[in-house]
Amino acid sequence: MDSHQWPCPSCGDDRDFVQPPCVDGHTEDGGECPEWACADCGTALVTGAPAVVPVAPVSRAA
Ligand SMILES: [Zn+2]
Ligand SMILES: [Zn+2]
Repeated sequence: MDSHQWPCPSCGDDRDFVQPPCVDGHTEDGGECPEWACADCGTALVTGAPAVVPVAPVSRAA
């Protein structure tokens, strides 16, 4: 299984993160599941997203 080291916000230290089996269909089209879980405490981390996501106003067509 693939694993990666990231600082875990819950553990407060670097931890190994593993990818649980994707149940959301991220890998169905050959893509990579962005969800990782701390092997120690299970805290979920989502990668692939920009660190800061600008909050765009939702425009609704009337
Ligand atoms: Zn997934
Ligand atoms: Zn952790």
